[in-house]
Amino acid sequence: MSTAIPTTDAPRLYSTLSRTVEPLSTSPDGTVRMYVCGPTVYGPIHVGNARPFVVFSVLRRYLTRRGFAVRHVCNVTDINDKIYVAATREGVRSDVLAERYRAEYVADTDRLGLGRPDVEPTVTEHLPEIIAMIARLIDVGLAYPSAGDVYFRVDRFPGYGKLSGRRLDEMLVTEPGETKEHPLDFALWKGHKPDEDTSWDSPWGPGRPGWHIECSAMAAAALGPSFDVHGGGIDLAFPHHENEIAQSEGANGVPMARIWAHNEMLELGGKMSKSEGNIVLLRDALDRWGRDVLVAFFLRTHYRSKLPFGDAALEDTARQVDSIRNAARALDRAESAPGEGFNRELAESLVVARQDFFQALDDDFHTPRAFAALFEAVHAINRAVEGERPDIDQLRAARAAFVGLLDVLGLAGLADPEPGAPAEILALATEREGARAAREFALADELRDRIEAAGYQVRDTPEGPQVTPK
Ligand SMILES: [Zn+2]
Repeated sequence: MSTAIPTTDAPRLYSTLSRTVEPLSTSPDGTVRMYVCGPTVYGPIHVGNARPFVVFSVLRRYLTRRGFAVRHVCNVTDINDKIYVAATREGVRSDVLAERYRAEYVADTDRLGLGRPDVEPTVTEHLPEIIAMIARLIDVGLAYPSAGDVYFRVDRFPGYGKLSGRRLDEMLVTEPGETKEHPLDFALWKGHKPDEDTSWDSPWGPGRPGWHIECSAMAAAALGPSFDVHGGGIDLAFPHHENEIAQSEGANGVPMARIWAHNEMLELGGKMSKSEGNIVLLRDALDRWGRDVLVAFFLRTHYRSKLPFGDAALEDTARQVDSIRNAARALDRAESAPGEGFNRELAESLVVARQDFFQALDDDFHTPRAFAALFEAVHAINRAVEGERPDIDQLRAARAAFVGLLDVLGLAGLADPEPGAPAEILALATEREGARAAREFALADELRDRIEAAGYQVRDTPEGPQVTPK
């Protein structure tokens, strides 16, 4: 079976900036450069923070599969007001607290099994770049020092409001301050306060960066002044991303990102069983549902739709995940007792499913439609193994095609052999099935003894043999 991806259209993504679905651009070297705002590490990450992590990690998997080189950057904010507050509450130093929760964030998101971004920059590694960018903004008249702080002068940046569609004269005061020229001016540098246990030297005195400038500096350091996709939750569009644009474009004089991609919010408050309470931490959701169900749950809904988190939706997702796993099991059994013919319907259905799958993802990363295409493959496989079974070559090709689709979504593990029995034991079980089918019962018994000697048992069920540890 061909492994080429259908290339009818370029991938397209919705941009909050243009309010249209646009063809994806690449940087001059052919790479898709993508920056995604990551978490502020002041506690264990919330299941809501996992949504952008899953969406943009799977977007990257799909683009890679589609033949693009991707440079995926997702920062960690390790200097922030919230970190000082949490450190005081927990009675530890703020840098110790931030490093602890950064490590926990990495461990929790590793459990999603979607790979890691190429670069995960931290603010503490980027103070020189941040200070240089602030100095540049002062040089060009877009920022001014004031009583130990430095502020961005929003009414000097003509494009301010272009992302969120707000006009300066309509905006509310977001950050009141007595030392600012304009109530909407926002802090690039915050002078040291006595209750903060870290500070860095700067031309404007000791202090620390504001949140917005951190991302502008980290994005430029990792990707250059202009790149292809800037992602994050829609709650960040204003003021965070608006301010990133003002800083980066004000300092660098070129458009910051071509496409601004925003995922909608995960909504808690869906009905959940009483004993579980409101699961809000990613690690608790992983413990309860497992990574396959959780990843599938995030992808079943389009990234630009609100996503209610609750038992019913997750139980429904668990049933879908079971259907996918069962189709893989059905292929296992068919491969252990293949037929001899070629099943044209199976071959054609899988080609169509693959086309539908990639067309859906090309169209603004429409993962729910990609799921529907995956189920076309599930149904075609189930029909094929229930009827006259195809020969082994076609079964293996069908498995490769099916696993190829699953892998884009980070779900290839659903086609792995049953947990608990290594491949060599499953191979013995398959050989035993073959012996039984050929009525070579002495050989079948000998194979069963070998499986049991290795610590496993075989049960013959209507669905075929099940191998489990003894
Ligand atoms: Zn950011």
